[in-house]
Amino acid sequence: MSFFAGIPEAAPIEVFHMNNLYLQDTSANKVNLTIGAYRTEEGKPWVLPVVHNAEVALANDESLNHEYLPVLGFDAFSKAATALVLGEDNPAIAEGRAFGIQCLSGTGSLRLGAEFLHSQCKMDVVYVSKPTWGNHKLVFKTAGFKEVRDYTYWDATNRRVDIEGLIKDLEAAPERAVVILHGCAHNPTGMDPTQEQWKQICEVVKAKKLFTFFDIAYQGFASGDADADAWAIRYFVSQGVEMVVAQSFAKNFGLYNERVGNLTIVVNDKSTIAGIKSQASLCVRANWSNPPAHGARIVHKVLTTPALRQEWFDCIKAMSSRIKEMRAALKGHLESLGTPGTWTHITQQIGMFSYTGLNPDQCDQLIQKHKVYLLRDGRINLCGLNTKNVEYVAKAIDDVVR
Ligand code: PMP
Repeated sequence: MSFFAGIPEAAPIEVFHMNNLYLQDTSANKVNLTIGAYRTEEGKPWVLPVVHNAEVALANDESLNHEYLPVLGFDAFSKAATALVLGEDNPAIAEGRAFGIQCLSGTGSLRLGAEFLHSQCKMDVVYVSKPTWGNHKLVFKTAGFKEVRDYTYWDATNRRVDIEGLIKDLEAAPERAVVILHGCAHNPTGMDPTQEQWKQICEVVKAKKLFTFFDIAYQGFASGDADADAWAIRYFVSQGVEMVVAQSFAKNFGLYNERVGNLTIVVNDKSTIAGIKSQASLCVRANWSNPPAHGARIVHKVLTTPALRQEWFDCIKAMSSRIKEMRAALKGHLESLGTPGTWTHITQQIGMFSYTGLNPDQCDQLIQKHKVYLLRDGRINLCGLNTKNVEYVAKAIDDVVR
């Protein structure tokens, strides 16, 4: 007899599974386009020099210790993170209507936001884009949401945002439904609404009394400009929309395993904040009790020290520029090979991913025949490309689509 008898084996988490298959592969020419992490031209992880410098400074700061942080985290970090996403001079900050809670990276921020909305605001229905990041549905279901529904997002034929379908679906959503919107660099499609389209989305969210939940995991990493990447969120705030924003510092600081995140909350009535903070404290207490300090100290130091902040801007420029170069190179090779189909979407999409349009069968062939690993929905991480392997990948794609 075992108390654990009968537990069925769950399907593997695709992105980690594919990454493991890549690691186990012994081929010399294998290419990893699976997991969403930045790689250098040499195919190596990158510790941002500015992060290294901040870590050295922190290691030598004898005023620091390893005492517990408060339940809601390192407040100066959350203030800096909130200012980064909303903009330093956002009236919502000046009016005391916006504040942050330090969470465990983007995922922990989503989880806290979901649990809070479910338990305190009695919200039960959440809408996610179709397709969306693989974890959204799991997080919201686990947090107690009864229904996770899709809203139309992707027009596969024209490889663009299906704004008509999106608006139609949101118009049909019930009042108080939560809508998850990717702040920038939509994962997996790499295609964001235009500013005009964001305005339409904001209109329907307001008219139908939907609740806005932004997820921003790529601020600055997407375009190289942290302000430009936060445009949609700032626009919604300017329109008087209440919201929560899950912020991740995994990609833009290269701090994947430090789990640095922030949940920014913007309210219309600041007298609600004491209640929100006290109830959020209980949610956090029941989950991780209080967050880790190291990564939040790094991000805080960088964002609040002008010279380091500038150095960080240079780092995100370097990462996003390399990705853009790889987009252009991949598209260029496919076009010069005369590969059937159109490939302009590769350079129209932003962020680390391209939703290539390759079908599952073509993806399987890329993996098995050419050792080019990607997700079966055709999503590739451009960071896995470099000047040495991009032509090989283009030739492999050419082979499987012919
Ligand atoms: N949301 C989206 C859309 C993402 O792509 C990611 C990272 N893959 C996250 C949230 C959060 O990731 P993390 O928990 O590592 O910050």
